[in-house]
Amino acid sequence: MNIIVQKYGGSSVADKEKLELICNKIIKEKNKNNDVVVVVSAQGKTTNNLIAKAEDYTNNNEFISKKDLDFLLSTGEMQTASLLSLMLNSKGVKAVCLTGAQAGIITDSNFGNAKIIDVVTSNLISYIEDNYIVIITGFQGMDKLGNITTFGRGGSDLSAVALAGALNAKKCEIYSDIDGIYSADPKVIPNSKLLKEISFDEMLEASSAGAKVLHNRSVNLAKECNIEISAKNTFRNSKGSKVRKNIKEDFNIHFITKKDDISKICIVGPMMLSNREAISKIFKIAHDENIEVYMISFSELAINIIVDTKKSKLFMEKLHEELIEKK
Ligand code: ASP
Ligand code: MG
Repeated sequence: MNIIVQKYGGSSVADKEKLELICNKIIKEKNKNNDVVVVVSAQGKTTNNLIAKAEDYTNNNEFISKKDLDFLLSTGEMQTASLLSLMLNSKGVKAVCLTGAQAGIITDSNFGNAKIIDVVTSNLISYIEDNYIVIITGFQGMDKLGNITTFGRGGSDLSAVALAGALNAKKCEIYSDIDGIYSADPKVIPNSKLLKEISFDEMLEASSAGAKVLHNRSVNLAKECNIEISAKNTFRNSKGSKVRKNIKEDFNIHFITKKDDISKICIVGPMMLSNREAISKIFKIAHDENIEVYMISFSELAINIIVDTKKSKLFMEKLHEELIEKK
């Protein structure tokens, strides 16, 4: 099999005209005698709108069910996948749409931030062998009980890489509305340069530090599976950028990036470096509340922690409760 995995992001699938264009790109690839597997995101701002709707309908209740929210958010990608498959079929092209679950993506039950634990490709392969173009919903899988799970915002990249790895694909192409990977966010630094290629490790560092072009977990998985990623523009022919194993010595600086919407929390007390009890409580709270710690520094008198601004109040409340009130 000559499998090509193509992933199209939210802005690439935002309306009918864009989906028409993508149909043509897919058909062109299929006509080159390739087996095409397509992963799609939700159209435009759909996911944001669904989140806002869930918040509105629950009056912003902080105890909203993450399982139900995943169920709701997964419908965004389902709409794109079914529309694209319907369009291809209406042009006489054999296509089928599958959810992440139907495509065999098995995850743990960490709703909203699920990890892939296996990809069972039998269903997918039988469609590919039957010569179908297979369209798969990005961003989601299924836990062992059959519940729909999602991977977290921007998670469709991860679906594409996981499928490319499991199917041993020839190519994994990630399409968006920019030409590829730049030395800085081109919306912030207009003079940023398009990078022809970048190593997995540097890309991973940059993605984790705020570069929005690829999801950091997708880069990590690509490195694990040694899957080369091509980041390309949906709307114009460009060579794009490749993320791959680096085999040459190169001492140039490649990226400058920044992370938005983060807050620094400072915990002050004597002898912090040796306060094992406090340190273990801090990490336990971060774990229990699903708070990602982006950076941490210790000194004799303080522990400084950088987290998402959205989670910073909750983190402070829990820290205060555990480290001060309960004393
Ligand atoms: N639709 C999801 C999001 O907007 C996943 C993705 O686009 O990759 O976060
Ligand atoms: Mg999206």
